[in-house]
Amino acid sequence: MTRATKIVATVGPASSEFEVLQQMVRAGVDVFRLNFSHGTAADHLARSELIRRVARTAGREVAIMADLQGPKIRIGKFETGRVELEKGAEFTLDAALESPGNVGQVGLDYKELPRDVRPGDILLLNDGLIVLKVERVEGEKIVTTVRIGGELSNNKGINRQGGGLTAPALTAKDMEDIRTAMALKADFVAVSFPKNSTDMTMARQLANIAGASAKHRPMMIAKIERAEAIPELAAILEASDGIMVARGDLAVEVGNAAVPALQKRMIKMAREANKLTITATQMMESMIVNAVPTRAEVSDVANAVLDGTDAVMLSAETATGRYPVEVVEAMSAICLEAEKSYEVAIDKDFLNRTFTRVDQSIANGALFTAWHLRAKAIASLTDSGSTALWMSRHNIDLPIYALTPNVATLRRLALFRNVQPFELEQRDNRDKVLNAAEDLLLERGVVQKGDLIVLTVGEPMGQPGGTNTLKIVKVGER
Ligand code: PGA
Ligand code: MN
Repeated sequence: MTRATKIVATVGPASSEFEVLQQMVRAGVDVFRLNFSHGTAADHLARSELIRRVARTAGREVAIMADLQGPKIRIGKFETGRVELEKGAEFTLDAALESPGNVGQVGLDYKELPRDVRPGDILLLNDGLIVLKVERVEGEKIVTTVRIGGELSNNKGINRQGGGLTAPALTAKDMEDIRTAMALKADFVAVSFPKNSTDMTMARQLANIAGASAKHRPMMIAKIERAEAIPELAAILEASDGIMVARGDLAVEVGNAAVPALQKRMIKMAREANKLTITATQMMESMIVNAVPTRAEVSDVANAVLDGTDAVMLSAETATGRYPVEVVEAMSAICLEAEKSYEVAIDKDFLNRTFTRVDQSIANGALFTAWHLRAKAIASLTDSGSTALWMSRHNIDLPIYALTPNVATLRRLALFRNVQPFELEQRDNRDKVLNAAEDLLLERGVVQKGDLIVLTVGEPMGQPGGTNTLKIVKVGER
């Protein structure tokens, strides 16, 4: 059975060996995420080479996503490494403090914080486990009262409830990391904490400049994890190729309870804008230490599938967890099962839609035709992957095969929901390439003699955006 929903897995100490990565690919990983919050440029380059080697051995392309660290909005260090904050106590965050902190005060990595907060603001530290209320700001000092106490250790992250921290999305380190990401030909670049479309446009420009000599252009993913990004979503989508529902940081800023509805809205908006979506963070969290997921995690993954996400993501589960292979297997099984109850509504989907582009009309026409003829498969012969992208924005219980000679396209297609990429050699003539496509699908065992398939192709061949032909074929009847 082919799984429609894709799996993104984060690489880390638990998943850096050839053997483990190979098993993860066999278990169903489609995209590997390199987390630029950890490791050096040399580490990322070595890991990416390993991943490409694993993919070659597996005979299947996988994509690489470079996830930039983004601004570090963090406290400094403590004399003793950690302190225990008591509810009701006074605690000062001091941007000017150079020495290590104690139970009454701590320094700040993020020096702008005193300018970003006002009395009455709520600050959330360590993913919201510690809650501080701002009483007053005195120069570089922010005096707070502990609302929810507990252990606080070195360099924990800070969020402001409701958002509003002014730190720019792209730091000097991110700009350097973009160059590393392009050196390893990352297929996707994920930008952390973008506030608006300008952050995404800037990141894309930097990536395109860094990738220019190798003619490499990555797809840009906006991590939606700031409160400010929500009202800007439409513009951010337009400036990006996809979004990540980054539930970890987002939940801290907007509150846990707001996240499920936001996830649904974001995925819907993205699909309507022909953009990609990744649902991330704590999806299979308990499998960091346990061999099986909780019932709630199973439901969470299944619901993301039903929401229409392109991919579900694993973070610490595969980066540092005990079961990097088993968690992929478990996630894959949940996706497959959930996809069975995914509602197909092609006709409804096309009501009130107009298409002006020829290639887009052909893509949607193919979908409509295949659905109504009860075809076995759809095959899109594509250069850039756009036809497959448009087709994959609608629910259809037929697989979409994207056939391309372009290896960069082959890799990025790994993230698209319900798209199965296959490499097909370039041919100079339409009939030859259509015959080759039919033969390839037969050879791969995904269609049988007598099956009806719907093919799309463009003429002249090999030009992006050139899809202009729809052909319906009974396999093996030529
Ligand atoms: P992170 O992003 O894992 O890089 O923090 C994802 C999230 O915040 O959910
Ligand atoms: Mn995050």
